[in-house]
Amino acid sequence: MRKHFLSSAGILLIFWMLFAACTKEQETIYSVPDELQSFVDTLVSKAAQRGVRLELSNNLIIEYGLNTEGILCGSCVFVGKQLKIEINQQNKCWSDKITQEALMLHMLGHCALRRIDHDDALLPNGDAKSLMNGEFIDQYACIFDLSGENNCNNLYKRDYYLDELFDPDTPAPDWAK
Ligand SMILES: [Zn+2]
Repeated sequence: MRKHFLSSAGILLIFWMLFAACTKEQETIYSVPDELQSFVDTLVSKAAQRGVRLELSNNLIIEYGLNTEGILCGSCVFVGKQLKIEINQQNKCWSDKITQEALMLHMLGHCALRRIDHDDALLPNGDAKSLMNGEFIDQYACIFDLSGENNCNNLYKRDYYLDELFDPDTPAPDWAK
């Protein structure tokens, strides 16, 4: 069973602001809130495990915003060479740390991995094919609290979604057939 997490919050959208190249070399900076740093670390370490070297330490801004109507959960913006992610701080964009991680990896997928387009394809079992799905961000979270009475755990799906994030041609896993 898959929760239609964003039905009330609206779909994830991405705004691309492409500015004309500047003749001067642009300075880029790194500014990430402490509580979101672990998600960046996860992306970098998972990339390294897959032979992808991601260098974000001089070019990434993550800040809170987009909370006016709760429509957007996040956006990736390119300001010249500067990568900038804005995250909706209202927690209806994530119900727990697991979902928040999926949202952050989705946004970093747009910004850091240049996965510009959403991929709303489904796996044979009806689960989302990709963390880059534009409507669902709870691909490996759980509709119930992991510690709650109705305990469940979808974290066994996480490795596939990480593989797919770095390689969209990753075949469907056994659990999705
Ligand atoms: Zn998106």
